Amino acid sequence: MDCLFCKIVDGEIPADILYQDDRVTVFRDINPQAPFHALVIPKRHIPTINDIADEDCELVGYMLKVAGDIAKEQGFSETGYRTVFNCNTHGGQTVYHIHLHLLGGKPMGWPPY
Ligand code: 5GP
Repeated sequence: MDCLFCKIVDGEIPADILYQDDRVTVFRDINPQAPFHALVIPKRHIPTINDIADEDCELVGYMLKVAGDIAKEQGFSETGYRTVFNCNTHGGQTVYHIHLHLLGGKPMGWPPY
């Protein structure tokens, strides 16, 4: 499958990996939008959040738990941070393997445009 993030999971494309286990990989975004910007991805290929099946629900919840753990480890869980899933064109999705953006280290604006 020609998927950039599957290639990062498989080690075919290098990334600055912060954490991985049998279910998820976490790596720094190549084009950070905050002092800290990482992507939490499932090892399983799921193209968009529209494709999340019932059996993926625990995995997706686990992605959020891992994001919270990384935020704690990075020291910004108390000041706060932003987590985002973009979906399809209007959502701004550019890589079709679901990923949870974890951004921290500065106050975030809202709304996001
Ligand atoms: P999306 O726009 O799909 O929500 O987010 C895709 C993210 O992947 C973007 O923030 C982009 O900077 C990041 N990205 C794209 N290609 C690469 C890559 O080869 N390596 C890493 N580490 N991040 C990437």
